[in-house]
Amino acid sequence: MSVLFDRIAIVGIGLIGSSFARGLKLKNLAREIAIHDASADAMRDAKELGLGHHYCASAGEAVANADLVVLAVPLGAYADLAPMVAANLKKGATLSDVGSVKQAVIRDLGPSLPEGVHFIPGHPLAGTEHSGPKSGFAELFHGRWCVLTPPPGTDEGAIARLKALWIGLGSQVEIMAAGHHDQVLAITSHLPHLIAYTIVDTATFLEDETKQEVIKFSATGFRDFTRIAASDPIMWRDIFLNNREAVLEMLGRFTEDLTALQRAIRWGEGEKLQEVFTRTRAIRRGIIDAKQA
Ligand code: NAP
Repeated sequence: MSVLFDRIAIVGIGLIGSSFARGLKLKNLAREIAIHDASADAMRDAKELGLGHHYCASAGEAVANADLVVLAVPLGAYADLAPMVAANLKKGATLSDVGSVKQAVIRDLGPSLPEGVHFIPGHPLAGTEHSGPKSGFAELFHGRWCVLTPPPGTDEGAIARLKALWIGLGSQVEIMAAGHHDQVLAITSHLPHLIAYTIVDTATFLEDETKQEVIKFSATGFRDFTRIAASDPIMWRDIFLNNREAVLEMLGRFTEDLTALQRAIRWGEGEKLQEVFTRTRAIRRGIIDAKQA
């Protein structure tokens, strides 16, 4: 691949930021990578792993002179970072991010941005339950979708360049309105995490003996929930706080459907149960066919 941006600044060099940096280096998509992270440990690890070319003491220093800035910090950190990032962006630069919610990002970053900056929020639909620079890997985005949510009127050339970058990292790119993104992710990602957190938490409140059996027999289904429920607590706290309306709406629908299944079990309505489970099995086949399994 050829260089798409001269200088890319990455603010937050955890799982996603470090995977992004690794991919950029591997595919030679940037001439220089500048890194800043608030965590001294993360900065030390990033240096040791050789993830960038410049290791900056502040977000402002990393952002200065960058052609592309990518924020890869928890959603709760955006509002504080916004003034420092905005004050140091050069004219013509593109500001993007990888945050899991998009309307809140536009709310927190949009108002402070200067004229002449291309603001293109993004979200790679890829991740693991691990955190920090050591857990990243260049192939994380391979075959995964990256959703870009540019506000109406964003420069088409800037969108095309960022799109090319994500394609260079192995992703497929979809352009979407931020509100639509938040609705879709509420059901495909946020609600499943909430359910996993709840099931695992419910089990941990069972008495000791049962708890041991929960671990012992976890392969019967519980194990898959524990992997999801091991995801970063701060990141997920921020996702629920920042996508409140969409999550509450989906949770309301889910609760109704759950109550319907509860009723079917109570009244021995086997046909109803089988009908739902047959439908959901077809969804799984569709995901496998779309190579998103
Ligand atoms: P992570 O591994 O925890 O890394 C985030 C890094 O940002 C940490 O080193 C953190 O330091 C640092 N940080 C926090 N506040 C900061 C600030 N104000 N300035 C500079 N650095 C700051 O998190 P991640 O999993 O990469 O997630 C990053 C973003 O990607 C989140 O917005 C998340 O929603 C999104 N995302 C995550 C996934 C996933 O599966 N993990 C998938 C797609 C998108 P401390 O540890 O000291 O706080």
